[in-house]
Amino acid sequence: MQVNKEISLDYRFRLPSIIDYVNYGGKTIVIAREEGNWIVLDNQNQLAYFNALRTKTIGEALKTVDCSDDDSKWVVTQLVARHFEEPPRYQELIPVMQLYLTNGCNMNCPHCYMSAGKADEHELTTDEVFCILEAFKKNGGIDVKLTGGEIALRPDLFDITKYGSTIGLHMELLTNGTLWTKESIEKIVPYISVVQISIDGYSEEENAKVRGKGNFQKALDAVHWFTISGARVHVAMTAYYSSDLSEKATYYVEFARNLKEKYKNYDFDVFIATGLLPGRYGTLSQEESDEYTTITQRIYSQYKGCSNFVDEGFIGRHMSGVILSNCSYGYPTIASNGDVFMCPIISATNVVANIRTTPLNKIMEICNYAHNLSETRNLEPCNHCELKSICGGDCRICYFNDLKRDDIENVTAPVKRKCSQDVKNKFYELMINTNTEIFH
Ligand code: SF4
Ligand code: SF4
Repeated sequence: MQVNKEISLDYRFRLPSIIDYVNYGGKTIVIAREEGNWIVLDNQNQLAYFNALRTKTIGEALKTVDCSDDDSKWVVTQLVARHFEEPPRYQELIPVMQLYLTNGCNMNCPHCYMSAGKADEHELTTDEVFCILEAFKKNGGIDVKLTGGEIALRPDLFDITKYGSTIGLHMELLTNGTLWTKESIEKIVPYISVVQISIDGYSEEENAKVRGKGNFQKALDAVHWFTISGARVHVAMTAYYSSDLSEKATYYVEFARNLKEKYKNYDFDVFIATGLLPGRYGTLSQEESDEYTTITQRIYSQYKGCSNFVDEGFIGRHMSGVILSNCSYGYPTIASNGDVFMCPIISATNVVANIRTTPLNKIMEICNYAHNLSETRNLEPCNHCELKSICGGDCRICYFNDLKRDDIENVTAPVKRKCSQDVKNKFYELMINTNTEIFH
């Protein structure tokens, strides 16, 4: 890691007052629990030097601790690179809304947690969607994810996207990529912030197991036209689970790398799912699910050229400096018939309202309440945990999904959740891997 900054020996770091030390994997993770920040120390000399820096200048600490140049530089470099002196930054408003535009889909994927297929009879009209977008913007909203079903089945998709973009929202499209033409892509690209296209195999044969025959090339064509038209493109790849997935892993890696190489001059990336969403392959045993996670993490790491598994989403969230004290629980999710949910995985949560009978202002109030209630400071035992600003509190869906709207507004903090050493260890590993891959 290069840090282009000269630091005087007289410099005294203003380090956070609450520091936790976790010994894991032969290293010491030094955690600033309120700031959601950490550094990783390799030996006792580095630890002694860090402790000296809590009260002394760099020069004074060097005189009091027997520590090599490399060790002291490593500690200082990490403190600077990880902005260890900066105060925590909280995200005040709810920035993201997920809008399921239709339940209709031209595919019949076995893993689809939406059970999409047929459009709902009472799907939101164009004008209703416009009103929702406007109200969301007025309530401080920033990002709108348009999803389905397959959004390209909505004849008003272009109008909706353009409308949202024109009033200042960032419009993201989630599509299977099979119903687009070059013309429809070129027309919509100026109004989108990003498009996510799902491809679930490295070949026609493998993709067809999930997404049906003849759809692989269509999705690749959409990827191509969106990319070269200037859109920010994410290919979302969920490897198909089978007993020989381990042997097929290299084909997934090759496929993702080839795509990345082909579009290296564009805003393009492949995101490989490294675990299964609730509802996907519901019949897998815990053992199979764990095996799936291990193999897909390997695929992801090899694609990224990392020797350890690093979760890019995790890194991205922590590099931005915003502390992570929640997931997306409480972000409004609106189904195609207007039903409102508190979590994007709508098959696993209850309806809390309907947009046709409850104004979005009121819905945003409920969402804010639910989001606040599920913050780590309002969850037990997260409120006392050193990872409370780093892990985000892990998935809390099962602790809230029985709550109806009235319940949510009557629940008081702290809500109890379960956690285990395994969950913590998963995060300790991510923290160590992140520092190893990014800062070494
Ligand atoms: S989910 Fe577990 S690891 Fe995460 S903050 Fe809560 S108690 Fe800590
Ligand atoms: S509750 Fe779980 S499924 Fe829902 S947004 Fe949070 S992490 Fe995702």
